[in-house]
Amino acid sequence: MNRLNEKARAMIAEAIGAENIIVEDEILDRYARDETSDLEHAPDIVVRVSTAGEVGRVLKICNELGVPVTPRGAGTGVTGGAVPVTGGVLLSLERMNRILEIDERNMTALVEPAVITGDLQRAARERGLMYPPDPASLDSCSIGGNVAEGAGGPRAVKYGTTKDYVLGLEFVLPDGAIITTGGKFVKNATGFNLCGLLTGSEGTLAVITKILLRLVPAAPFSMDLLLPYDTLEAAVDDVYAIIARRVGPAALEFMEEDAIRLTARHLGQDMPFPDARAHLLVQLDGTSEEAVRDQVAAIAGCISVPEERIIAAESRAQSERIWKARRAIREAITAESPVFLAEDTVVPRSEIPAFLKKVKEFLNARGLRSVMFGHAGDGNVHIDVLSGGMPRAEWDGLVPELKKNIYAIALAHGGTITGEHGIGFTRRDYLGLALGEDEIALQKRVKAAFDPRGILNPRKIFGD
Ligand SMILES: Cc1cc2nc3c(=O)[nH]c(=O)nc-3n(C[C@H](O)[C@H](O)[C@H](O)COP(=O)(O)OP(=O)(O)OC[C@H]3O[C@@H](n4cnc5c(N)ncnc54)[C@H](O)[C@@H]3O)c2cc1C
Repeated sequence: MNRLNEKARAMIAEAIGAENIIVEDEILDRYARDETSDLEHAPDIVVRVSTAGEVGRVLKICNELGVPVTPRGAGTGVTGGAVPVTGGVLLSLERMNRILEIDERNMTALVEPAVITGDLQRAARERGLMYPPDPASLDSCSIGGNVAEGAGGPRAVKYGTTKDYVLGLEFVLPDGAIITTGGKFVKNATGFNLCGLLTGSEGTLAVITKILLRLVPAAPFSMDLLLPYDTLEAAVDDVYAIIARRVGPAALEFMEEDAIRLTARHLGQDMPFPDARAHLLVQLDGTSEEAVRDQVAAIAGCISVPEERIIAAESRAQSERIWKARRAIREAITAESPVFLAEDTVVPRSEIPAFLKKVKEFLNARGLRSVMFGHAGDGNVHIDVLSGGMPRAEWDGLVPELKKNIYAIALAHGGTITGEHGIGFTRRDYLGLALGEDEIALQKRVKAAFDPRGILNPRKIFGD
């Protein structure tokens, strides 16, 4: 540990207690990674805070000394956001994990940042309410991380993403100031929308210490449909057909054949119609069983899949089985090829088939195996490229070219380089492909206004 970090450690110990600091190598090592493939860097110190006041005291010390601080929620990010790539202090919010209030009348939840997303969903549901954003990692990621990343999930097509639910925030600036913005009101035209600015700021502007979220009435009935297709184009045509019919599905996901095969093999579970070239997974919800059945009938009447090939999961167990396959794709890929490139480009829905075709052609021409799946309803396409048995140096040399080409194809199809996983560390060198110079300069000025000394999550979002 260098002298500066040693000084920070001593001052933080005095400010909030030595028992909240970890310096043992084997424990530091646990905080060196998130879920990004093949990226690690240990912090010099881990500080576990329990209150906004403690966050303020730690940040103030680090700001004065110029020591980098990396905030960390549950460490499930996939672009290296919580990896302390410059060392310094890793600020773990893990102890701030209480659901402080669920206000049924105003339909809001007030939570600390480390509340696990699935736990909030279950707590809301017990009161007949729903917190809709549903990243596939919902049983392990935290609400603070979701806000910092602007996380989305399959239900974005009907309910939107995390940014649509943040009504208020308490956050701490690098100089230690604690700011509260927003409140339990639906409308707010008072000054700049700081909740909007901080949502998706990836821990680079402030540390979020409390979150006020909008809840909605829970739909008491839901049903999942699995639809098999002979071509991806036919599947995407049916995405339009369903949306044009104004059925309003709660989720509309696709998995192309490589994703289906890999996951089925990993789970040791046969997927229905294993020879299909693509599957759509549709979730419908409503206030009555009849309303949901009406939606099923409307869909059956407008899609190209014959009725006898539509699989309707009517029990919770059947639904779980289908969604398990969708949620296990990443796990299946990791098991097959621990080193892989995970992209989450987004394009207009209508461009999905042409976009995927071009990306597949590009990857196939290089003899690379890829798996594509994602949110057909909102155009967010996950493209995972497996390194397989490729020698390490060759793979490392190839990755920048792969990224540049995938991003260029997405941009040429009217899309952008990330829909929900953020820029983080792994995409920072490519921001200039998606945003103009003036916009990047403006974003850097915003960063400087919040964090003039640049201590918060350095080397994230912006290239060097
Ligand atoms: C299997 C799997 C499936 C996934 N599926 C999805 C998906 O469907 N949709 C999706 O959007 N993402 C998905 N992700 C990515 C990841 O789960 C999300 O980005 C999630 O929001 C990260 O939350 P976290 O608590 O783990 O954050 P971390 O990984 O700990 O941190 C993420 C970023 O947020 C910052 N941060 C964390 N907490 C705070 C705070 N309190 N204040 C300020 N900054 C903070 C960190 O500095 C970092 O930059 C998936 C990941 C995995 C492994």
